[in-house]
Amino acid sequence: MNIKRVLVVVSALFFLLTNTHGQGLPEDGPLTIDESLQNLAERLLKGKQGSIVAIDPATGEVKAMASNSAINDGINRAIGVAYSPGSTFKTAQALTLLSESVLYTNSRYSCNKGFWRDKIHIACHEHLNRLDMVNALGQSCNSYFCQGFATMMKDRVKYRTKNVAINKWNSYMTSMGLGAMLGIDMEGEASGLMPDSSLYEKLYNGRWNGTTVMWVGMGQGEVRATPLQLCNLAAVIGNRGWYRVPHIHQPVNGLPLDTKYTAKHFSLANAKAFDTVVEGMKTCVTSGTASRQKSPFYEWCGKTGTAENDGKDHSVFIGFAPKDNPKIAICVYVENAGFGADLAAPVGALVIEQYLTGTLTKRSENHAMQWEKFQVVPDNLGMPNDSLLQTYSINKKEMQQASR
Ligand SMILES: [Zn+2]
Repeated sequence: MNIKRVLVVVSALFFLLTNTHGQGLPEDGPLTIDESLQNLAERLLKGKQGSIVAIDPATGEVKAMASNSAINDGINRAIGVAYSPGSTFKTAQALTLLSESVLYTNSRYSCNKGFWRDKIHIACHEHLNRLDMVNALGQSCNSYFCQGFATMMKDRVKYRTKNVAINKWNSYMTSMGLGAMLGIDMEGEASGLMPDSSLYEKLYNGRWNGTTVMWVGMGQGEVRATPLQLCNLAAVIGNRGWYRVPHIHQPVNGLPLDTKYTAKHFSLANAKAFDTVVEGMKTCVTSGTASRQKSPFYEWCGKTGTAENDGKDHSVFIGFAPKDNPKIAICVYVENAGFGADLAAPVGALVIEQYLTGTLTKRSENHAMQWEKFQVVPDNLGMPNDSLLQTYSINKKEMQQASR
């Protein structure tokens, strides 16, 4: 361990033990926030760097938005940082691949703790081989979604060129509210990133193919999303295909809400694809990677993510509940906290329970107290340095200048 690293850890520990900095709710209310949910979210984030955000899928109202940083950097991490979405992104992949008939519900790929393709190895954890789509989501199979994405990029029957394929793929992602600012009524929203042909032209000089970029299939590589966008993705799936732009201010003086926040935005994915992905996210909670979060009181849906980055993996979870006519969609994103199933999923389950039942059982309250005391030392103090996003913003600036 070098000296710089020691200094970062020591100062992070000092800040975590002395103080953490909640950031971000606007001060010009009235807000759409649910006080008891917000309090719980802030408690659960203590001693950790990251965010918890919750939306009512039917209205787009933000019900909780907690953000915490080890230093007082003023960043609202729920909206202001675009991260690798990790495996939570497999839900959006599944919707795209199914709707484009690149894959079907019964499509299978072999996976023996991963697979090899052209000297590239994609690793996976141990699970039954050759899962179908629902179980590939439930078990979060990396091989399945990397190969599925590569298959779409290489399909020259459906797509004349790889550029046509990636741009078609991009249009699905954009339609789910990914890759650009959603337009929440707050300052400091980051845009995120979904690749298209112009980005790949820039990054690879045109020398890319379905195999060289297949990590995108599992939410790694050239994809970035804010926790708000991932929460909104959970809302899109809960609603089986649409969202309203998330917003945090209530209308005032008896005026109706701006139509920007009442209009429905429809995704390109089809109804059948949503049925399959909802089933996959239910399986995640009943018998998959988040099976410890199964509730005896309601059926619900989730997806874990473990996002690789320069430091220790980020722990991620998205979900909505109940499964039908959901009342709440959530995203928990905790930096450098390891497996999604270990921290983000149980924390997310507590947020869901609080909102749906209005309280926590005694057992859940004990868990909440444990998470409140649990500390995770972040690898980065302040805004993560993301050279890919910098490349992209330069690219965008050049394109805008060129188009003027
Ligand atoms: Zn696998």
